[in-house]
Amino acid sequence: MQAEPVLLAGLIEVCRATIAANSDHLCALDRAIGDGDHGTNMQRGCEAVSAEEATVSSLPLPDALERIGLTLVMSIGGAAGPLYGTLLMEMGRELRKSDQGQDFSSALKQAIDAVARRGRSHAGDKTLLDVLYPVQDALAHRSPLTDIVRRAELSAGFTAAMKAMRGRAAYLGERSIGHVDPGASSCALLTIAICRYLEE
Ligand code: ADP
Ligand code: MG
Ligand code: MG
Repeated sequence: MQAEPVLLAGLIEVCRATIAANSDHLCALDRAIGDGDHGTNMQRGCEAVSAEEATVSSLPLPDALERIGLTLVMSIGGAAGPLYGTLLMEMGRELRKSDQGQDFSSALKQAIDAVARRGRSHAGDKTLLDVLYPVQDALAHRSPLTDIVRRAELSAGFTAAMKAMRGRAAYLGERSIGHVDPGASSCALLTIAICRYLEE
């Protein structure tokens, strides 16, 4: 499977621009239940990926995704780096198996499970998994992009009612309730940006 260079370059740019535009918002969410750096962490990661966009776009899709994942691990830092990094690296590895009948949504499912193992976390723990699993479910059911957008928005919002079980927010226990999880929010913003770009 060859990466569509123009499409991949566009997606990288749309993700970078979305995170840049929402960096302050993501930091504010993280200030409420963490250490206030999620926006700057994600921005650093996206800038690093953008810087090697030309190289990445020339690779076959599985290699491109693995490379992006590695760059995210090295540049985002914090908790989110290894988690977003694992997501992209595992997507790459799973898509390499596509000749064995692996489709996009089941590759995504495997990759999300790898993130959950890496974070020792589950759905309902108030993390980015609470957006990733619902979005994957919508994809598996072949929902239209507008429904996936809605699902991402809603599921990020639902994390406000959850008590954090993992990451820094877990130290707050009950006091984490009432705040949207920053990682869930970045994940929803990226999902929405990608869907809107693909719709065009
Ligand atoms: P840090 O907490 O190291 O400052 P970030 O602020 O960049 O890292 O990322 C925080 C986000 O990472 C959280 O909002 C949550 O969504 C996610 N997260 C943290 N720990 C875990 C974990 N163990 N499993 C899944 N997601 C996690
Ligand atoms: Mg943080
Ligand atoms: Mg931090």
